[in-house]
Amino acid sequence: MNKRTFFVLLGVPGAGKGTQAKLLQERLGLPQISTGDIFRYNLKNLTELGLLAKSFMDKGELVPDEVTIRMVEDRLGQDDAAGGAILDGFPRNLIQADALDEMTADYGGISLVPLIQISDDEAMRRITGRRVCRTCGAVYHIEFNPSAKEGRCDLDGGELYQRDDDKPETVSNRLYVYYKHTSPLIGYYFAHRLLAEIDGTQGIERVQAELMSLLVESENAE
Ligand code: ADP
Ligand code: AMP
Ligand code: ZN
Repeated sequence: MNKRTFFVLLGVPGAGKGTQAKLLQERLGLPQISTGDIFRYNLKNLTELGLLAKSFMDKGELVPDEVTIRMVEDRLGQDDAAGGAILDGFPRNLIQADALDEMTADYGGISLVPLIQISDDEAMRRITGRRVCRTCGAVYHIEFNPSAKEGRCDLDGGELYQRDDDKPETVSNRLYVYYKHTSPLIGYYFAHRLLAEIDGTQGIERVQAELMSLLVESENAE
């Protein structure tokens, strides 16, 4: 069998999945696959997919499974995912989880599902203070992880903006959608003995260190 490594990062919106995945990808040599980032990239380029996704993202609803699953399938087929991937924001419901099981079955399945845990109040603080680079997608927080120069990306000087769906009105629906559709995945992966819980209220570096040791441990166990 051609073994590949797939990690799925779970957690409420704002838990720190994207922040952690971006740090992990260099250290693990695996690409971060963020469905939210792919939708936003498509929207920036005004593709049909981007415009369709926008109508759901603006309300904090899930983009239809058929579209999302096909997009992930295509992405996993690209060369840089030949060794596996770090999935961030996918799967988001049981139908997508089933689809991912099928996509990864020939490669040894999913290796580990870290669940990054924070409270809803913390999620609200993190999301409403989140700022994203228009050029490279780097993620900052006005208070918890500020850029050196206000409003500008440390990596490329790009403009930092607030996502439309990071306004408080939309965030509460995104949390509702998470508990209704995504949180059942916690039980699903627990039953498959893949779940590993992490205290996401710690600083970015501490969470990263704990994640790294869990991931390395899971790889060595195989
Ligand atoms: P997610 O991808 O889970 O939605 P992000 O990685 O975008 O979450 O993080 C949400 C916000 O919280 C960002 O503004 C980020 O800078 C900030 N953040 C991420 N991890 C931490 C942490 N451990 N402590 C404080 N703030 C954090
Ligand atoms: P995120 O960047 O993960 O916060 O996702 C932003 C938005 O993109 C979500 O609120 C959804 O509207 C959409 N989205 C991202 N990933 C998925 C997915 N796996 N399934 C359906 N919709 C998604
Ligand atoms: Zn940037």
